[in-house]
Amino acid sequence: MTERLEGAPVAEALDRATRALLETVGTGPEAPCLASVHRGEEGPFRRYLRGQQRAAERLGVRFREEILDSAAGPGALSAVVRRLDRDPSVQGVLVEHPLPAPYDFASAMRELRAEKDVDGVGTENLGRLLNGEAGHAPAVCRAAIAIARHYGLPLDGQSVAVVGRSGTVGLPLALLLLQRTPGPNATVTVAHSRTGDLARSLATARIIFSCAGHPRLLTRSVVPEGAAVVDVGLGSVPAPERPGGVVWVGDADSDSLEGWASALTPVPGGVGPVTVAQLMWNTAKAAQMQAGGPSDP
Ligand code: NAP
Repeated sequence: MTERLEGAPVAEALDRATRALLETVGTGPEAPCLASVHRGEEGPFRRYLRGQQRAAERLGVRFREEILDSAAGPGALSAVVRRLDRDPSVQGVLVEHPLPAPYDFASAMRELRAEKDVDGVGTENLGRLLNGEAGHAPAVCRAAIAIARHYGLPLDGQSVAVVGRSGTVGLPLALLLLQRTPGPNATVTVAHSRTGDLARSLATARIIFSCAGHPRLLTRSVVPEGAAVVDVGLGSVPAPERPGGVVWVGDADSDSLEGWASALTPVPGGVGPVTVAQLMWNTAKAAQMQAGGPSDP
């Protein structure tokens, strides 16, 4: 029997912490504001965006969308981020990623001060993470670890694997998992698209954090028996009979892993809602940091 690691109770616990933090930083018209910058196109970020809107409404976080003008030149993204960085009514800024060319995500993020970079994906926050200093870390990475901790999956000293090495998901997750006490202290293997034999790389892992965005990559032929899978990946596969013509799936093939993996996060309903809840907490924290409060996570 494979345990389903639902995100809902983890998200609810985070929401309670966010509500308590909001009481100290401001509510109603004084509540922190999150600005979400995106292309306005269908895709995984659009799903994430709908979750952000719902969570902001539920928690009383002010929320605003900034849709990029597709006709504007490559400098438009940096200009939007620069404007939001200078806007005192905005405490947190999130930029859709990954973004296709000609958008230059990395240089746009250089326009944003670290305290407003609520997804912790700018160079300064990633550097702080590398050095074990306080700052924002990517919401999805904290969410994946929060799920593991909530369900008591052992991390300290344990062999875990991260599938994916992007600078915004896989790599920061590996860094967070490696952090010394009070961090998880895990022993981490990182796999990627050039990993020749995925099964061999994952063979000793007791927990696999999958962030590849490759539907059904993880089957029982690559996951060791009894391992737990925290599925961060989100991708679509054609489903002509469904509204929209697609169905959203993770990296794990849940049919193949049923009765083989010890535990698995569902998609949807696993990492996604916890990521949104973590982002709201990060936004409240950003407001506290900008008001001169502590920056410890
Ligand atoms: P990305 O930039 O496309 O990176 C994907 C990573 O996976 C790359 O490092 C790639 O390797 C690796 N990879 C791809 N195919 C692989 C394979 N067959 N075997 C092993 N590794 C493989 O994507 P991302 O921004 O990191 O996001 C990763 C996934 O997380 C996406 O599905 C995204 O939608 C999802 N996500 C979910 C949430 C959530 O809330 N649930 C939030 C953010 C992102 P190379 O480096 O060699 O190319």
